[in-house]
Amino acid sequence: MIPTGPRPTSRTPDTSLYERRESAVRSYARSMPRQFARAHNVWMHDNQGGRYLDFLSGCSTLNYGHNHPVLKQALLDYVAADGIAHGLDLHTDAKAAFLEALEQLILLPRGLDYRAMFTGPTGTNAVEAAIKLARKVTGREMVIAFTNGFHGMTLGALACTGNAAKRGGAGVPLSHVAHEPYDGYHGADVDTAALLERRLADPSSGLDAPAAILVETVQGEGGLNAASPGWLRRINAIARRHGALMIVDDIQAGCGRTGGFFSFEGLGFTPDIVTMAKSLSGMGLPFALTLLRPELDQWAPGEHNGTFRGNNHAFVTATAALRHFWSDGRFERDVARRAALLERRLDAMAAEHGLSTRGRGMMRGIDMGSGEAAAAVTAACFERGLIIETSGARDEVVKVLAPLIIDDALFSSGLDILASCIREALALPYGVAAE
Ligand SMILES: *Cc1c(COP(=O)(O)O)cnc(C)c1O
Repeated sequence: MIPTGPRPTSRTPDTSLYERRESAVRSYARSMPRQFARAHNVWMHDNQGGRYLDFLSGCSTLNYGHNHPVLKQALLDYVAADGIAHGLDLHTDAKAAFLEALEQLILLPRGLDYRAMFTGPTGTNAVEAAIKLARKVTGREMVIAFTNGFHGMTLGALACTGNAAKRGGAGVPLSHVAHEPYDGYHGADVDTAALLERRLADPSSGLDAPAAILVETVQGEGGLNAASPGWLRRINAIARRHGALMIVDDIQAGCGRTGGFFSFEGLGFTPDIVTMAKSLSGMGLPFALTLLRPELDQWAPGEHNGTFRGNNHAFVTATAALRHFWSDGRFERDVARRAALLERRLDAMAAEHGLSTRGRGMMRGIDMGSGEAAAAVTAACFERGLIIETSGARDEVVKVLAPLIIDDALFSSGLDILASCIREALALPYGVAAE
């Protein structure tokens, strides 16, 4: 039976087990206190019979929805045939199939020449590998990252992350990174690429020559700020002029979230290094990848090591996802249509309340002006069975990260819920809707 709409459970179940035995570091579970049992397509089901429409998609890890039948079957077949589950970095059938699909369906059609480095399976590890490689190749220490950038939680990637609360957990100095203003940081009239160029060209600016410039084309956690194509092209040119490598962190914006497989497609520049993770496996299995220009592949064997480099189960589902979604233009056309719908609907909500929108493609949100207002909206949405989260320096942006495969009519009805929750939240003193 196909569900017709969300049917949330109103009663919060007993959470004492988690309070007693799970670390206080848990976060999403606090704003969504249900126990989830299964998920399919765009729906998550709790263990009390409730169902929720997922506009979070594991922070863009489930771009193809939950348990896509084609991906799931590929994995079931592979496991049933005793396919290699763990093989360190050995050559395996699953790895070969993935590399072939990456080459034939993604790299060659786009005229891209990258080598694939399989890092440990989380995004932050792909970023660590990227910045280590840039430092090794250039012999420089400094990395330029941007205000509101988010790149992960391990020390090297955390040093590149802007958010003070996240940085505060490091316990040691986070150094060798300069945080320069992202596109639009000082308002529409200040050209932050020109500021960066000036600082790098001035021998007395105090900014050391960088190994790399690390950038998200749309800042996923940092408030869905979307850089303009022109700004990105100029950052690329600045990197080249100053002997730095340009790293695009496509962990959240890639795999179709902004329309193309890579978020930089068609923008007129090619990064030296690209990091990918989140939706790469297509099914929520941990899998990360650092793509690098072949000339940069100066690693000694095992120099960036890891037990789980290349997750064979994820190779299988990632290959199935590349073949199913990326072998013709159909999926990209569907995503473009849904992105236009999302833009239209969010623009209307923003206009109704004098708010503004952020983002690009299927990675868009609405700036509620404060974290309290945004939290009131997401709490009200959850009460109505819509899973949605916030983003931004003060968690002020309600972000829509719906699965890219969502049915248009269902997408629209989820956006109806969002629109009415924004109306409610703005009519009430903040916080009341969250009670
Ligand atoms: C999520 C994310 C990361 C970190 O990935 P993890 O798998 O959580 O380590 C890095 N960069 C960006 C842009 C992300 O969105």
